[in-house]
Amino acid sequence: MPVPPLPARPPFSLRARILSPLAAGGIRWEADGVLEVDPAGRIASVGAAAERPELANAALDLRPWVLLPGMVDLHAHLPQLPNAGLGAGLDLLAWLDRYIFPLEREWADPTVAERLAPLAFDAFAAVGTTTVLLYGTVYARSLDAAFHAADAHGIRAVIGKVMMDRITYDETIDPSTILDRSLSESIELCERWHGRDAGRLQYAFTPRFAISCTADMLRASADAARAAGALWQTHVSEDRGEMAEVARLFPEARDYVDVYDRAGGLGPRTVLAHAIHLSDRELARLVETDTRVAHCPASNLFLASGVMPLARYLEAGLTVGLGSDVAGGPDLSIFDAMRVGAYTQNALRVVGGDARPTLAPLDWLRMATLEGARALGVEKKIGSLEEGKEADLIAVDAALTAAIPGADLDDPVDLLSRLIFRAHPEMVRGAWVRGRQLEGPGAGAPT
Ligand SMILES: [Zn+2]
Repeated sequence: MPVPPLPARPPFSLRARILSPLAAGGIRWEADGVLEVDPAGRIASVGAAAERPELANAALDLRPWVLLPGMVDLHAHLPQLPNAGLGAGLDLLAWLDRYIFPLEREWADPTVAERLAPLAFDAFAAVGTTTVLLYGTVYARSLDAAFHAADAHGIRAVIGKVMMDRITYDETIDPSTILDRSLSESIELCERWHGRDAGRLQYAFTPRFAISCTADMLRASADAARAAGALWQTHVSEDRGEMAEVARLFPEARDYVDVYDRAGGLGPRTVLAHAIHLSDRELARLVETDTRVAHCPASNLFLASGVMPLARYLEAGLTVGLGSDVAGGPDLSIFDAMRVGAYTQNALRVVGGDARPTLAPLDWLRMATLEGARALGVEKKIGSLEEGKEADLIAVDAALTAAIPGADLDDPVDLLSRLIFRAHPEMVRGAWVRGRQLEGPGAGAPT
């Protein structure tokens, strides 16, 4: 009998194992569950198959696959995917010069963006990422290409044109007008794309980081983001060499976080990437202003930037989600970020003597989904499989993660531990945003 294809559009119902964090705390685990998506792409119901036998019998049966909320990648660089995995052993500033700026410069030709952006969105969906917060390049036309590609693909995306007026790789710019031009191009892009498709696409004003931006650009971009209700994103406190340069360039600032604070950049619509080496004052200020942080553990080890004292940050009340930081991170998968993050925290306990408890697999899943959604201010819409939310979900074939065939698991924590520590590149079999299937994951239902 031919296997039915996965549903491409809502409405539909899926029968599968179901694992999700819950907004109120705790998890939902259904060993035999059914999830119903209504015509508008919302989750109409989710629960045990035994409680809804008629619905369960009519649903597409994906058992033993597992339904999870789609992963939220809080930090990645769209043009950098071709160089993922390259440049190990260099420090941040050398790596940018050698591997990254030449790559981003190619996007001055918008046909490069038109060709690569659709492939990038397929690649994100293939590893289970259904929401992604992205940096583009400094070229406005390449951002239009990126947004068009995200619009057509169906992924949920927040994207921004990179702003740089101090050190930049754009050889065509006029230094005397770059701030005004970069700002007006960003505002135009925001007006064109922010909120598109009922909020599936959003805009983030994106000054690259303090080294490449003047105080004027930081302030102007933060003002523009606030006026438009858009997001604001940049990097902070990633690498010791970078931090020393920021201190030299901004002698009036108390510390790195203060550079952005003085620009009016902190707040609940701001996502700062990395934030590894925060002082107690900086941490307290980020918590006080409700600023959000993208934790990118794979990138931090790949570039030997440092180790985030995550338990200390969480104890302080910081909102933290996970980022791949491709291509600073070599892997697009948020499952990979969870695994490297967990190893990193274990190492910190062993070497650093931090006595705080390490995070459990379910804590990592929550950070990769619901906390990522919270960081973007969309936790009421997505991030968990709960009635009334938009149907952003993935179907995962956990059998691929066993070391030998047949070693399947029926405990949700064990199952998730395998997905994190033995993630398989093809284990994500289906991905949906608002019930619309995304290109990328391997095709076909279970056999
Ligand atoms: Zn980055």
